[in-house]
Order: sequence, then C-alpha cells, then structure tokens
Amino acid sequence: MAIRRELFAGEVLYRQGEPSDCAWLVERGSVELVSVQGRREISHGLLGPGELIGELGMLDGAARSATAIARGDAVLLAIEHDQFLDRLESGDPIVRTLVASLLRRTRSIIASLPADTALPAEDVSVSDATERGGIQKIRLEAQLGDALDTGTLEVRYQPLYDIPAGRVTSYEALVRWELPDRGTVSPAEFIKLAEETSLIVPVGEYVLDRVLEVLTGLRDAGVDPLPSIAVNLSAKQLVEPGMARQIVSRVERAQLPPGALKLEVTESRMLDYAPVHAVMLHCREHGVPFALDDFGTGYSNLTHLYKLDFEFVKVDQAFARHMFDSPRAMALVEAIIAMAHGLGAEVITEGVETPRQLQHLRELGVRYAQGYLIGQAQPASAVLSGEAARAGEAGALGL
Ligand code: C2E
Ligand code: MG
Ligand code: MG
Repeated sequence: MAIRRELFAGEVLYRQGEPSDCAWLVERGSVELVSVQGRREISHGLLGPGELIGELGMLDGAARSATAIARGDAVLLAIEHDQFLDRLESGDPIVRTLVASLLRRTRSIIASLPADTALPAEDVSVSDATERGGIQKIRLEAQLGDALDTGTLEVRYQPLYDIPAGRVTSYEALVRWELPDRGTVSPAEFIKLAEETSLIVPVGEYVLDRVLEVLTGLRDAGVDPLPSIAVNLSAKQLVEPGMARQIVSRVERAQLPPGALKLEVTESRMLDYAPVHAVMLHCREHGVPFALDDFGTGYSNLTHLYKLDFEFVKVDQAFARHMFDSPRAMALVEAIIAMAHGLGAEVITEGVETPRQLQHLRELGVRYAQGYLIGQAQPASAVLSGEAARAGEAGALGL
C-alpha cells in the first residue's frame, strides 16, 4: 500500500499517457507538470505543498495528460481511486451528480483550449476549514496506511473480571495509534476514518492477528484454562465480503479452543440485520461467540437484541457511572441486566471504577466487570506474563 511517496529531485511521479489510478497531494517540495505536444515540450507550472495533482484522472480514469517530475526532493500523498469512489458512492446522490457534471464540464473546457495552454493548478491549501479538514483526513489516512505497513499500531488488552469466579478470565483488545506529531490518536477517531475507506479491513486483520498471536503464545506457554480475548468489529467490518471466512480460517489455523476468540459488535449506524445474522451464524458454528457492545446508548438498541442472538451484552459505561445518581438510574441498570439474563445472555458491565459499583453489580448477578478498577488496557507483554491478570484481581479486591 504505497500511499506516501518520497521522490528525489528529477524523479518522475508518472508519465504522460499512463493510466490514472490516483491523485496526489503535494506535502513537501515541488513537482513540475510537463507535456509533449507534437515536438514541443510545454511546462504547465510548478505545484507545491497543499496542491493536488491528477485529480481529474483519478475521478474519470482518463490517461495522464502530462508527466509529473519532482523539482527538488518531494513528498506526496496518494488519494486512491478506489478509496475516493467508496466515499463518493456512499455520499449524497446530489453531490455525486454535481461532481460528475463538473468533471464533464472541465474535461470539455480543457478539450476546447489550445494544446499549449498551461492549466491552472488545483490549490487546496486554502483557509477554508472544511477543505483543511479534508486535507487533514487525507494525511491521517496516508499515515494510517503507513502504520499498517510498518506495524506501529499497538493492540492493548483491558482485563475483564469474572465476578463469581473472582478472577480475570478475559480481555478486550483495544487498538492504539501513536503519532510522533500528534501523540495518541483515539480509536474513536481513526476507526471511524478507517471505516470510511477500505482501510478498515486491514486494520481489522491486523488487530485479529495480534490477538491470535497472544492467544497462541499463552497456549504454548501452557496456560490452562486459556483466557478469552474479545476483538471489536464494526458491523461494516463484519459484513465486508470474505471477513467471516478470514476470521474463521485464522482461528482454525491457530487451533484455538472454542470461545478463545470473541467478537464485539460496535455500531455507529443502524445495522443491516440479514447479512450480520449470517456472519454471526457462521462464526458461532466455528466457536466464535458475540457480544453486543455499548448496549443502551447510541444505536446499540433493543432491536439488535430482538433480531440477533448475542452470548454477551456489554452494558455501556454510562450506566455504571450513573447507577448511584438516582433511583431511576438504578432501576434502568437493574432492568437492563434482568432483560439480558432473560434472553440467556451473560452481562458485562463496562466502566467499573469503584469497589462500590463492583459490589452492587455482584448483587445483581452480573458475570463480568470491566473498567479502571480492574485495570486499563495493557501491552501484550503484561497479558503474556500474567501481570495484567494479577493486577486486575488485586484491583477488584480493592488491595
Ligand atoms: P469500546 O469497545 O466500548 O471500548 C471501551 C472503551 O472504554 C475503551 O476506550 C476503554 O479504554 C474505555 N474504558 C474502559 N474502562 C473504562 C473506565 O473504567 N472508565 C472510562 N472512562 N473509560 C473506560 P478506547 O480504547 O478509547 O476505545 C474506544 C472505542 O474504539 C471502543 O469502544 C471501540 O468501539 C473502538 N475500538 C477500539 N479498538 C478497536 C478495534 O480494534 N476495532 C474496532 N472496530 N473498534 C475499536
Ligand atoms: Mg468494545
Ligand atoms: Mg464498549
């Protein structure tokens, strides 16, 4: 995935006549566009940071109309045809129509110009906040592609305390991304970005591979019983063609016992039930159970519980946080727990931060507690050494 390109002075980015597969945003340095018309070479000018190259070809796939050559060392970020089309197709139909119409009009204007006319560059380094936001997203997306290539995304593991057993018996895998110039980027931000593009598939595979490495590492070290580890998947990831097969084949290749890998369905939009149901069936048949994440807030609602069969319901952290605020809040927590039990699901309460919350959840028959009282998400090494589990048990006992 060569999303970021570094060029030396004089190096060619692409040549006139080549097929267009992406547009480029100049990050650093400058690039000259040169075309050959008959026997004449025409320069269309220098493009610098914040300017786009090849965006028309990226949109309509026409051959490159000029050769792009770096003048001085340059860094460029690709906006790939497929990724852009994904966005366009999922966008507003009116916006789609306008883009297509502008594209046709621009092409016909260019066709009517004398061949040696230097075309104005597309300068997007403007002060408009929306366009700046777009550039920032392009950058972040390129950096995320780099992070996948170089393995610099980190997967951390937050312990879950099995209340009746009095032990840490499972973990949730939470992905982390450290950027040198921005610090930690929250998964809440970059998972959404990855979801908007096809990057969500490799991100999901990356997390799954790290988790399977930890599980096989524990098994090979003789840990018995093996803890289970839950991986977050958005419904969009889940119904991505081939995803369920990928998950099942990786789990089978790793030869893990049933239940060692769990999946948490996180959703930011409405679910399309039929395909999700089919994927869940397939995974479950191969020993991979499901948790409904963040239940009770946002789009994680009763219809999900009615239409889909989850082994675990994760009660959103807002409920643990507010349960002692008022009798009404407590009534809701109790009702949600009773309802999940009525459906045959185990309850996991998120955001448990105090011994008082844990004690009350125990009285309500909640099976698992997850939250800062038990522990924050920790590196794989702490899971492999058993340190994360020991610290979690001490936290739950208030030691
Ligand atoms: P989530 O799956 O509901 O994960 C729980 C979030 O709550 C995590 O935030 C965790 O650090 C935080 N948390 C846990 N215990 C406590 C507590 O006691 N108090 C408070 N205030 N917060 C607590 P994080 O790691 O920032 O993750 C945010 C969301 O990003 C996750 O919510 C999940 O929806 C998504 N996410 C994380 N990793 C992945 C991934 O690999 N794939 C996908 N698709 N989504 C992911
Ligand atoms: Mg989760
Ligand atoms: Mg959650």
